[in-house]
Amino acid sequence: MRRLDLKKAQAARLNTIRGINRQIVLNYVREREPISRAEIARETALQRSTISELVEILRNDGLIEEIGAGESTGGRRPTLLRLRTAGPIAIGVAITPTVTWIATSDLAGRLIEQEEFRTDPDWEKTSQRIISTVNRLSACNSSSIESIGISVPGLIDPAGVAIYVPYFKWRGIPIGDVISSGTGLPVRIDNDANSIALAELWFGRPEISNARDFIMILVAEGVGTGIIIDGQVYRGERGAAGEFGHMIVGAQAPLACSCGNFDCWEAFASEGSALARYRKISDNTAVDFPTLVDMALAGEEYARSALSETAHYLGVGISNLVVGFSPEVVIVSGEITRAWSLVEIGLSETIERSIRRGLPSARITASTLGDQPTLMGAISLVLATKFAADFAA
Ligand SMILES: [Zn+2]
Repeated sequence: MRRLDLKKAQAARLNTIRGINRQIVLNYVREREPISRAEIARETALQRSTISELVEILRNDGLIEEIGAGESTGGRRPTLLRLRTAGPIAIGVAITPTVTWIATSDLAGRLIEQEEFRTDPDWEKTSQRIISTVNRLSACNSSSIESIGISVPGLIDPAGVAIYVPYFKWRGIPIGDVISSGTGLPVRIDNDANSIALAELWFGRPEISNARDFIMILVAEGVGTGIIIDGQVYRGERGAAGEFGHMIVGAQAPLACSCGNFDCWEAFASEGSALARYRKISDNTAVDFPTLVDMALAGEEYARSALSETAHYLGVGISNLVVGFSPEVVIVSGEITRAWSLVEIGLSETIERSIRRGLPSARITASTLGDQPTLMGAISLVLATKFAADFAA
């Protein structure tokens, strides 16, 4: 049940109903391809003639295509439908504190071409590099690219302006406008954690994408959270929701948070906090986070201990979120999930101890997006707009 927002509501017109049915048919094809018109009609209880009309619209819009005939159930063999596979339609740009990934993707979220470079703390240089790479990729694809999705490790307002990106101290940069005017393509932009949550919703494995309420936690240089409520990203006022990395979970963390304090969740549960713990107990101080994970997986005692303690604090924060939101699933994303077998123990012990008796717990799982969650997030910013039902009502 949702209260109507009269400032946004438009009276439902025939177009609105047709628009909703169009998205229903499109999503049946997306999730159940290859599927016939008759099967869609059976499942949706829409009339066959309506389905045929909508399929024609979707074919003309270049979203779905026919493939050969399927099995006959007596009579003529039905023609099957699937998402259009020909060529890339989106470019994803994932800006991270270390590397910027840029890739083209088709409608189904399959990555086609991919490039990467080190992110320069100088926005001028990074933006030039993004623009030239996007222009090269889109020139190779004879303008089939429709738009660009950009994920950024910082606070983004709804107009596409980076309010603050802590790692580079970028403030008030109109990232969306700069990339759009340099490439001539529309841009959709969001915070990295929101983008990854969106990707899990649309492209995650079914045990996640079928959940209507879940929280995605990105453990990286910082700790970010993306909140999905009733099948959409919860952004809050000015898009700043989900800054749980700065909730207070203790005192005297092993290192300072990106905001400068020593009591934030991020300062206890980020990759940097695990490294700081490791450096305290080991002489081997030149280790980076991927190496720390490798060492822990190989059984190195200090590395395992540093990761376990980090997992414990990750669990402290997750317990707070579970108590507050009661989500169906909590997803952990980031390099740390490579050592999931180790991390999961620390997480579940802490969470089980802290969830109050009688309150429901949540499933805790590692990301299902493969090894490029941030890039999938950036691409989802474009692709979700194709499949979502975005009607004011
Ligand atoms: Zn903080």
